[in-house]
Amino acid sequence: MKIFPILILGILTLLSQTSASVPEITVGVFEKQEKVLLSAENGFTVYDLSSGKKEIFKRWNKSVLEISVTERGFGFLTHRNLRHIEIVPFRKHPVHVNKMAFRGILRIREDRFGKMTVINALDVESYLYGVIKSEMLLNSPLEALKSQAVVARTYAIRNQDKFLKELGFGLTRDVRSQVYNGVFDEHDLSIKVVDATRGRILTHEGQPISAYYHSACGGATQDSSTWGNKIAYLKAQVCPYCENYKDLHWEYELSLTDLTNRLREKGHILPNISDVRLSKDTFGRVIRVELVHADGTMKMNANHLRTLLGANVLRSTMFSDSEKKSSLNDPAEKAIDQILNSFMSRMSGDRSLLWKGKGFGHGVGLCQWGAKGLANKGYNFEKILKYYYSDVSVTRLYD
Ligand SMILES: [Zn+2]
Repeated sequence: MKIFPILILGILTLLSQTSASVPEITVGVFEKQEKVLLSAENGFTVYDLSSGKKEIFKRWNKSVLEISVTERGFGFLTHRNLRHIEIVPFRKHPVHVNKMAFRGILRIREDRFGKMTVINALDVESYLYGVIKSEMLLNSPLEALKSQAVVARTYAIRNQDKFLKELGFGLTRDVRSQVYNGVFDEHDLSIKVVDATRGRILTHEGQPISAYYHSACGGATQDSSTWGNKIAYLKAQVCPYCENYKDLHWEYELSLTDLTNRLREKGHILPNISDVRLSKDTFGRVIRVELVHADGTMKMNANHLRTLLGANVLRSTMFSDSEKKSSLNDPAEKAIDQILNSFMSRMSGDRSLLWKGKGFGHGVGLCQWGAKGLANKGYNFEKILKYYYSDVSVTRLYD
């Protein structure tokens, strides 16, 4: 008889250890709306949330319900002046809203301009189904996609309240958080890799990490200290694995006059820049630039210069100075052309910089093309993650 209480106690302990539930997150899916069109396959229930939770309406079929801004708040049919409602679909079908569809439930609240904000509340696993496709091409090897799923989950868990105070929901559905377009972005493969890594996140000293990632590092990742903030798990790491990135090599040409003008537009007044000197780390990444101008020299962080010139043109900070190539084939003509060019530029005081670079993105954390390369070499997702993030654990938050 005494065995039963012990057995029950044992089961309860086991349950409490494994019953950590899946966190629910909130994503702002539409803002500043005057009209919202809602539908769900088998209909839905609408609750008024302004004082407690009161059921106010049921739709029994998939026809569309139009919600519009009213004199005060918003409303539909005979319901006016609502401020905060919740839409719960029957049978957990996705809720369609303005040509998009989302798992979980929707909430609509009045914003401070009298318009509507539509918020999608759902468990983080369902959210990730719609994130993976956008963040990494689905033709990547499975283990690379799994590593991306863990990174995206880590981001969502760590940042789940990022915009809460400012906007009234945790995450945006654009690049300010992670790109999320709901069920229309889901794919069998994205569901597969999210399920295969369910509940797993990256932690350092027990906390979810800032899991930065980028497209292709171009030879080595960037140490976080170059951002002015040394983070123990974001260290520079050699990466020869992103060589298959089709846009790996790039060139950026800019005359010194253009550079002077561009920087002036961004508030850095440096008269007549005459030279740019590059300081690199041991992996060849430009860490700092020295802009030599008529009144002196200005030192600038290379990441900052990249932001000022445009991250899509100065595609990474893994670049070198290069001589301009002549389009002429005859060596004699080429030599004359070079002399002429250098004479012209000295006369006009304008010289062109030609930077040849590799990779795309800020270079910190996981290199996505490198992850693909490592997966093709037989690395599993955990090994891939531990390659790019130092001293981290893959922790399972819930089953
Ligand atoms: Zn790489």
